[in-house]
Parts: sequence; structure tokens; C-alpha cells
Amino acid sequence: MDMQTAKAEDLDLFVNAQLQFERALTWIDDLKAGIVDYLINPKRTIHVRFPIHMDDGSIKTFHGFRVLHNRVRGPGKGGIRYHPDVTAAEVSALAAFMTWKTAVVDLPFGGGKGGIVCNPKELSRGELRRITRRFVTELGDAIGPYTDIPAPDVYTDQQTMAWIYDTFDMMHPGENNLAVVTGKPLEIGGSVGRNEATARGSLYATQQLLKRGVVADLPAVQGARVAVQGYGNVGSIAARLFYEDGARIVAVSDSHGGISLDNGLDPNEVLAYKKERGSVVGFPGSKEISNEELLAYDCDILIPAALECQIRADNADNVRARLIVEAANGPSTMAADEILRAKNMIVLPDIVANSGGVVVSYFEWVQNLENQQWDLEKVEKLLRKRMKRAVDETVDRWTVLDDKYKSGFNGTHSRPTLRDAALVTAIKKIATVVLQRDIWP
Ligand code: NAD
Repeated sequence: MDMQTAKAEDLDLFVNAQLQFERALTWIDDLKAGIVDYLINPKRTIHVRFPIHMDDGSIKTFHGFRVLHNRVRGPGKGGIRYHPDVTAAEVSALAAFMTWKTAVVDLPFGGGKGGIVCNPKELSRGELRRITRRFVTELGDAIGPYTDIPAPDVYTDQQTMAWIYDTFDMMHPGENNLAVVTGKPLEIGGSVGRNEATARGSLYATQQLLKRGVVADLPAVQGARVAVQGYGNVGSIAARLFYEDGARIVAVSDSHGGISLDNGLDPNEVLAYKKERGSVVGFPGSKEISNEELLAYDCDILIPAALECQIRADNADNVRARLIVEAANGPSTMAADEILRAKNMIVLPDIVANSGGVVVSYFEWVQNLENQQWDLEKVEKLLRKRMKRAVDETVDRWTVLDDKYKSGFNGTHSRPTLRDAALVTAIKKIATVVLQRDIWP
């Protein structure tokens, strides 16, 4: 792909979400045209600006967002991200992915997402606490156990969720407010298995996809060569779980760069090294590689688990993996998607591949509302069941679309992808509920 094409590509995540949606729509011939605009655009976007006392005595103003994309199937659900590049468009796209994801895995939720423009790496714990508490206060009743329920995302964690719960609880004394946020510490209503749920869900989904014979000559995770981009909550745990299932982790990376070792890295040792040194780079015995080299690494399974728009028009052609498991949200642009499809590469799309996180968030929400605590065996069993069903439904739909394609449906189609299949399923489920509930007034 030449530079001209790369430059021409739109890296706005919402534009890419729209393109995915429009592509999926071409496979649906019975959708009422009038609801398309309602199904793609956010229902509500809240912008807040607030000042915070910094540790050095200065005052700084922060900008945050909470987008409720759609709530016809239930309250909004979706993470909160702290990152310097957060924009309203990015949060809207991530919220749309949540609407589709919760539909794909049949959770009684809609989609939401939030973000604050900040660089957590440069903020103290006290500053992060003040930012979080003020943000929650600004949102007021826009979040709540039955309205919109946040969770962790990039650079937010259990501690952030504990602050969110505590602040909301201060605002609503005398009520059981645990279900206002998921991904909390175990001691205050968190669920066992939530911390590793996204990565575990990705593993279960991959196992089922391979079992269905979707990737030629790759029948199982055992023995597969795996490269992982991003070594945070999702990436580092995915590396460990795939390794424990018999895969060889040949390359990993973080925001500082990447490392490879053809004989295989021990993900636990890499994590211990990253905790001590702040990056995977420099891990003893490994070769240093760039993030671009990681994406192009010779492997069977590539797991993008960092940020969006990493696989683009200018590098998709270099990808050598046979299967891409999108643990991150929106890691491939639609231009990249076209290139990968033309190369017959299989992409397990984000709305299926990383849905384990929201599935166990749902389990946490149910436990909170019922004042229960499930054990790990129950959480993992129910997660596996949901992931298997989502993959089966996606592969079955894909087969139906592929038959349509082969029979010359519409004459204008290119071969369907798993992303098309998952989105068609999601859109149909949401549209059905819109029409069943019927339109107010
Ligand atoms: P995290 O903050 O724990 O980790 C992010 C990782 O990405 C870090 O290791 C960081 O160094 C790395 N990174 C940042 N920029 C990079 C770059 N340019 N190249 C390579 N690595 C880079 O975040 P997380 O919770 O693990 O989320 C990762 C992805 O998974 C995001 O897309 C998020 O939306 C998605 N996701 C997370 C969850 C969840 O439960 N946490 C659920 C579903 C999807």
C-alpha cells in the first residue's frame, strides 16, 4: 500500500464503526430504513469540563465524556478510558461497539462508554482519585445500576472502579449501589474472574472458532505461534492463558516497543520484568522489535490487545498471521479489513473476541443486585458457554451469508467476513427489540 493510500485512510474510529455498520446493512434486506440513523448514532453524549487541584499547587481543567449509544435492550454498559488521545468520536465508536457486543452475547444491556483526556502515567494516585471522583459527581444520575454502568478500560483499573462506586454511594446513601460499576475489587462486590475475563473469553472464543475448522490447518491453540500487541490487562493475561493452553508466545509488545523469541517467551516472566522495569523491552534473551515488526511477525495467531487502528491500509498487507483475534476494540480499520479479506485471513472481530469482559461484568452486576458471590468454577463455566454460543452463532450466520454470496445475492457483494456476520446478528437483534417495544409515543 503506498503512502498516498495510507494518508487517504480515515483513522477516525467512529467513521470506521459507521463503515462496518454500513457493510453489514448490505446483508440485511428487511430493515426499516427509518431506524438506521437511530441504530448507528449515539442516543446521548455528555461532555464535562472540571478543574482539579494538582499536587504541585496548580489547577488544571480536564475534559471528560460519557456516551450512551443505545439502550433499547437494557441499561448502557461500557468502560471508562483515561488517555491523552480520547475524543468524543472515539468514545462514540467504542460505545457503539458495546451496543453490538452486548447484543451478540445476549446480555440485557445497551452500549455506553466514557473517557477522560489525561495522561495517567503523569498523574499521582491522589490526582487520579480527585479526577475520578469529580467526573462521577459531574455525571450525577447519568450513570446508575439501571441507567448506565461503567467498567474498566485502557489505563483504568479496579482502584478506579472502587472510587467510582464510593463516590456514587456517597451521593445515594442507604441504597445498594454496588451494581453502579463493574470491575470492582473483590472485597467490594467485584466478581471472581472479572480481571482476566476479557482475555479468558478471547481464549474460549478462539478455541471454539478453531474447533469449528474455520482456519485451515489450525485445529487448536496447542502448538500455535502467537504474537500479542499490548501487555496490559488484556494482552498480558491473554499471553499467559494462551501459553497455558499450549501455544508458543513468540512476540509481545507495549507502548515502548516489542520483543520476540522464536523458541517462545514465558509470559509470567515477561510480566514480572515489565512490572519491575516498566516495559517488556529489554527482557533477557529476547530480540527487540518495533510494534510494526510485531504486527508483521511470522505467527499463526496475532492478538492485537492495545489500542484502535493499529492494523491499517499501510501495514495490513504485511500481516502474516492466519488468524487475528481482536482482543482490543477497533484494532483494524475497514481499509485493513478489506486487505485481510482479500488475503483470505480470518479475523475474529472485537465484538465477539473481547466480549468476555462484559459477560463477566454482567455476572458481577447480577451478583451485586442479588447480594451473592459466585465461585470461579461457576463464572468460568458460564463464560465458556456464552463465548461458545456467540462464536457458533457468528460462524453459522457467516455460513448463511457465504451461501448467499455464492448464489450471487445482490450481485454487488464481496465475500462476507466474520465481522459482517457478527454485526448482522447484532443489528437484527437490536432492530427486533426496537420494533417489539414499538416506538414512543
Ligand atoms: P491496559 O491499559 O491495561 O493496557 C494497554 C496496553 O497497551 C499497555 O500495555 C500499553 O503499553 C499498550 N500500548 C499502548 N499503546 C501501544 C502501542 N501503540 N503499541 C503497542 N502497545 C501499546 O488496557 P486494557 O484494559 O488491557 O485494554 C486493551 C484493549 O482491550 C483496549 O482496546 C480496550 O478497549 C480493550 N478491552 C478491554 C477490556 C477490559 O476488560 N479491560 C474489555 C474489552 C476490550
